Amino acid sequence: MQTTCCYCGVGCGIVVKQESNGRLTVEGDKQHPSNRGMLCSKGMNLHYTVMDQSDRLLYPQMRLNRSMPMQRVSWDSALDRTAAVFKTFIEKFGPDSVAFYVSGQCLTEEYYLVNKLIKGFIGSNNIDTNSRLCMSSAVVGYKLALGEDSVPVCYDDIEEADLFLVQGANPAWCHPILWRRIEAHKAANPNVKIICIDPRRTDTARSSDLHLPIRPGTDIVLNNAIGRLLIENGDIDLDFITNHADGFTTYHTQVMLRSVEEAAEICGVSVEDIRTVADWIGRSKGFLSLWTMGLNQSVVGVNKNLSLINLHLITGRIGKPGNGPFSLTGQPNAMGGRETGGLANVLPAHRDVTNADHRAEVEAFWNTPVRIADKPGLTATEMFDALNTGTLKAIWIINTNPMVSMPDVNTVEAALKKARFVVVQDVSNRADTVQFADVVLPAAAWLEKEGTMTNAERRIAYLPKVIDAPGEALPDSEIIWRFAQKMGFEANFSYTSVAEVYDEYAKITAGTNIDITGVSHELLKQKRTIQWPFPQGAGSAGQGTKRLFSDNQFYTANGRAQIHALPDENTSEPTDSDFPLVLTTGRIRDQWHTMTKTGRVAKLNQHIPQPFLQIHPDDARIRGIQDEQLVEVRSRRGEVRVKAQISEDVRPGLCFLPMHWGKRLNNNLNRANNVTNALVDPRSKEPDFKFSAVDVVLY
Ligand code: SF4
Repeated sequence: MQTTCCYCGVGCGIVVKQESNGRLTVEGDKQHPSNRGMLCSKGMNLHYTVMDQSDRLLYPQMRLNRSMPMQRVSWDSALDRTAAVFKTFIEKFGPDSVAFYVSGQCLTEEYYLVNKLIKGFIGSNNIDTNSRLCMSSAVVGYKLALGEDSVPVCYDDIEEADLFLVQGANPAWCHPILWRRIEAHKAANPNVKIICIDPRRTDTARSSDLHLPIRPGTDIVLNNAIGRLLIENGDIDLDFITNHADGFTTYHTQVMLRSVEEAAEICGVSVEDIRTVADWIGRSKGFLSLWTMGLNQSVVGVNKNLSLINLHLITGRIGKPGNGPFSLTGQPNAMGGRETGGLANVLPAHRDVTNADHRAEVEAFWNTPVRIADKPGLTATEMFDALNTGTLKAIWIINTNPMVSMPDVNTVEAALKKARFVVVQDVSNRADTVQFADVVLPAAAWLEKEGTMTNAERRIAYLPKVIDAPGEALPDSEIIWRFAQKMGFEANFSYTSVAEVYDEYAKITAGTNIDITGVSHELLKQKRTIQWPFPQGAGSAGQGTKRLFSDNQFYTANGRAQIHALPDENTSEPTDSDFPLVLTTGRIRDQWHTMTKTGRVAKLNQHIPQPFLQIHPDDARIRGIQDEQLVEVRSRRGEVRVKAQISEDVRPGLCFLPMHWGKRLNNNLNRANNVTNALVDPRSKEPDFKFSAVDVVLY
C-alpha cells in the first residue's frame, strides 16, 4: 500500500507491506515525486513505531477530579461528559472559555473539522496548533510580501537552481531527503554553490561551499547588507521592481543606513564573506533560498523572513524555474493545517477572521448558528497564559505534547494544573501531557486512519487506512464529529466518512488561490498526490500547479509584491552578567519532536542516546567544565542538567540544547524548555526558541 511518511514536511512516499505473520515492512516509494524511493533513518524505521503497541492508549478514560485515578469508560460516557462540561462553561463564561490546541501532525480533515466546530458552531476562534511554534513567522512573512501564505516553489526547482542559500536551517538532519536531492544535484553539477548561514556549524554547514556563522539574532542585519551590495553591484532587476513590486525606495534608504563593514562587525563575520554571498547571488541563474526555525522562531521572526524574501524581490528571482524563497515545513501537515484555517487568526482556504467578507462566505457555506468572531482567538502561548489567569477554563489537546514542546514549560505545567478541564486526545500514553487530563481519548495512529496531508511544496497526498487501530482507538476525525453531534450540531456534522469531509473542504476552496475543486476525494485516491491549486477545469490528467507567480501576479490587493524596509534590531531576551550566554534549541538527526514515537525505536536511539549541551571550548574553560561532565544550564525560568559536549561547532557565547527530551522520559531535569523564554514575535506570535539568556555551571 502506498502512503506518506508522518514525520517531516518533505512528505516522502512510502510503500507499506504486511507479511502473512502480520509484520509490517516499509520502503521508499520509487514512484513518488517528492523522494523518488529514498527515505531517511526516521522514515525507514517507521514500522517499529506502529508494531510496538506497548504505549498505546486503548480506551477512553476519565476521572471526576484530579486526585482520583483514571477509569476506563465508554466513548459515549467520555464524550457526553466532555460535551456537558463544554456547554456549561460556554453558557456561564462565553465561547472563549474553551479552546482546542492541535497539531501539525493532524490530517487535513481533522484540522478542518475542529476548526469548523469551534469557529462556526461554538463561536470562538480559540483554536491554534503547534505549527504556531514553527511556521507562523513564515506565514506572516509570505502574506506581507506576496499577499498570501503561499510557497512559490517546488522540489523540481532544486534541479534548476545553481545557488542555494540555507539560512537558519539544518536540512542535512531535519529534511534529509530534500538535502540528498540538493547534494546529488551538486555532485552532478560542480558549478552549483551552497551557502549556509547559521550560528552553528551543522552538517549542512559542513557540506556547504561557504558558511557564515553569524551571531544569533543578526540575520536582518546580514540580509540588509546583502541587499545593499546587490544594489551597489547593479545585480537587481529594475524591470521587475518597476512593474511588479512596491516598497523599493524605502528599502533602498533603509539598507544604505548601515555600511557593510558595520554589518560584518555586528554579525561577527567577514566583509569578504558577505561580499561573496552577494556576488554569488548576482551571478547565479537559479537562486533558491531555504529556511526554517532559525528565521521563524524569533521575536523578530517575521522581519527575518521578509529580509530574506526581499533578496528575491529586488532581484526578480521568484516565479521562475530554480528561483524563489522556500520555507521548509517541519511537520508533515503544517501546510494542511494552515490551508484549512487551523490557526487562531485564519479561516479555511487562507481566508482571514478579521475580514468581514471572508467571515460571511464561511458562515454561509457552513450555515452557522452563530457569527464567526471577528477577532483572532488565543494563540498557542496565549492559551496557556489564559489558563493560568483563569480566563480560559477548558482546553482540548490533540496529538501534541505541550508539556515538553512549549517555551518556558514550567508555566505550561502550572497552567494545566490550574485548568478547570483538560481533554487529551492522543495515540500514546508517553505524551507527558496525559497526566494532567480529566478525559483521555485514544486516537488512531498513522496507517490506522484515512486522510490527506500537504507537504512543503503544496503537494496534497492521500493516506489510506492500512491496518486496524488497537483497542477502541478511533480516527481523530470521527472523534470530533461524534463530539460535535453530542454538542447538538448533528445536522452539520453528520459525516459517515473522511471522504465526505475532504469533499466539503475542497468545495470551500472554490474561487480562492488554493482552489482544489478539480480533485474529488475519489480522484485524489487515484492520483495519490497533487499540488494546489487545482481548480475545476484544470484537467484531471495533470498533477496541479508546480510553481506560483510565473505571471508576476501576486496575491496582494494591487497584484504587486511588497518589498519591506526593515529595522534590524533584535529584541530578544537580553544577556547580562548573571546570564551571559545565548541558548539555542533544535533537533537532532534521528529524533522527532518529544520522542513519543522515535524514542521507542532502538536503532534511532543509538545515534545520540542522551541529551547534551553543546558549548564552545572558551566558554567551557572559564567555567572549569570538561567534556562529558554533568552541567546545569540556568535561566531566569529554570534549570536543565545534561552532559557537556565541548565543541567549536558553536560560536563562543552560544550554546545548544536538543529540544526532544522530556521530564517524564528520563525522570530528570533534561527538558530544554525548562530554560527557554516565552517571548514571541508580536505579529506571528511565534516563540523565540533560538535566543534565551542562560548561564552554565558545573553540577
Ligand atoms: Fe520522513 Fe522527512 Fe525522512 Fe522523508 S525526510 S522519510 S518525510 S522524516
